[in-house]
Formats: sequence, C-alpha cells, structure tokens
Amino acid sequence: MVAEGASPTPVLEIKDLVKEFPGRKKGEEVLAVDHVNITVPDEERGEFVALLGPSGCGKSTILSMVGGLMEPTSGEVLTLGKPVQGSNPDTVTVQQAYTCYPWLTALGNVEFGLNIQGKGKGEAKDIASEYLRKVGLGDRLGAFPRELSGGMQQRIAIARALAIKAKIVLMDEPFGALDAQTRAEMQQLLLQLWTEEKQSIFFVTHDITEAVLLAERVIVFSSRPAKIVHDLRVPFGRPRPQELVSDPHFVEICQSLLSLLKQSPSGGQVRVSL
Ligand code: ADP
Ligand code: MG
Repeated sequence: MVAEGASPTPVLEIKDLVKEFPGRKKGEEVLAVDHVNITVPDEERGEFVALLGPSGCGKSTILSMVGGLMEPTSGEVLTLGKPVQGSNPDTVTVQQAYTCYPWLTALGNVEFGLNIQGKGKGEAKDIASEYLRKVGLGDRLGAFPRELSGGMQQRIAIARALAIKAKIVLMDEPFGALDAQTRAEMQQLLLQLWTEEKQSIFFVTHDITEAVLLAERVIVFSSRPAKIVHDLRVPFGRPRPQELVSDPHFVEICQSLLSLLKQSPSGGQVRVSL
C-alpha cells in the first residue's frame, strides 16, 4: 500500500554507482562506471529506457550490476525498493549472443525458465507456446536452435525473457549481431511486444538510431568511465514505424546526440544507422 501523497516505490534506483576493475599493473584500478544515478519511476506501463554510449564505456558493467551478476565497488542498486544482492529475480537478461540451450527445442528453451520459477509442466508448456507464438515461432516449437537462423534464435531468447514476466528486462545489444533487415524486423517486433506487456525495458546499445527509435528515454554515457552526459525524453509517440528514422526531426535528434557523444573523449565507437 502506498500512502496517499507518497510517491510509489521506483522500479529501479541506481544510486551513486561506481565500478572499478583491477588494472594490468599490480595495485592499478581501472574506473569503468563513475557515480551513475538513474531512477525509473513506477508507472502502470513500464518505461523503455535506452542506455546509449560508445563501445567499451561501461554499459554492460552497469547492466550486470542491475542483474546482480557483479557487485558494485560503491553505491547501490535497488529494484522495487529492495537492494540487489546476488542474482536479481526482478530482472531477466537478453544478451547479444544467442543464448539458447542447443540441446533443447524452442519450446524447451522457453519452458526452462518457467520450470525454474516453479510452474507445472502443463502451465509452462501453455505459456511457452503462447510467447513463441507472439514472437512468430508458433510453427517451430519443436525446432532446435541449430535449425533456426540467428534472428529466430534471438526471438526465442526474447520469448524466454518475456514469458517469465520479470518486472525489468535487461537487453544488452540484443540485435547487435543481426543483419540490418533482420535487426529492423526485430526492433518492430520488440516494440509491438512491449506495448502488449508491462515490463520496464533497459536496453543497452551503441547505435543512436536504435536508441531513439525504440526508447521513451535515452540516457547517454561518456566513453569510459561511463558517466551520464544527457538524459533525453524522446518526443515521439507510438507506434514508431521504421520510416520514422528518415523524419527530419528524428534525424536532428540523432545528430545532436552524435555531437554530444563526440564531445566526450574518444575511445569507443558509436553508430548512426540512418
Ligand atoms: P560496454 O558494454 O559499454 O562496451 P563494458 O561494460 O563491457 O563496456 O566494459 C567497460 C570497461 O570495463 C572496458 O574497458 C572493459 O575492458 C572493462 N571491463 C569489463 N569487465 C571487466 C572485468 N571483468 N575485468 C576487468 N575489466 C573489465
Ligand atoms: Mg557491452
């Protein structure tokens, strides 16, 4: 219960987050994440947030700390008001590389996470089939990953992530390994799924166009160490068809983000795929 007038607990709070890694020389530390603060408020519909920054700046490191796979050097992450300690059950992650289990069918891959959640056999099968249908693989339930294209394997990974209904979906450059056409299809699929589901999405990318096309909010990071340089509210409504990328206002926003990223010291690559 939230008392009247009090603001509801944010879905995600990242407070003064710092991560240092041991450097090459003994005693040397490499700063990867530099005092990052982000709050994602709790709203009926989860927010689609893109984390945009050059490759190597520290984006995956931030995501790992939200998922509880890595401990911060200092600062903290809270999801739904609870400090993250160890693997975070409020999150699920979709990686860039295809992370399907090769020995399981498409159906088996999606059922796997549901079984871990304690869903019974029949229920897990129903939910897994439903989500595979949602991602367009309703007729490939029995296929093994090796029989499917890279884009189809990523569809399984997305079905698996959404099916378990974690409050926050962490996506780490999930379309980075796909060709341009498949990538565009997957972007549209993700937007469609996100309008049907209620999860918050935290989507890491180094592609400016992808960030602005997909997200409601784009948090821009400097090159390493990752520091927030801008927090942009994207001024486009929904739906966002692929053609939006050639709209002059869209192009203008991408260009201003590009010049912002260029001002931060070089060290990584960003991409504009207009
Ligand atoms: P991004 O995802 O933005 O491309 P990462 O978060 O993967 O960047 O990495 C940020 C920096 O931290 C890089 O310089 C990387 O080499 C370093 N780094 C990441 N993980 C480790 C680790 N486990 N040990 C040492 N250095 C690491
Ligand atoms: Mg990364």
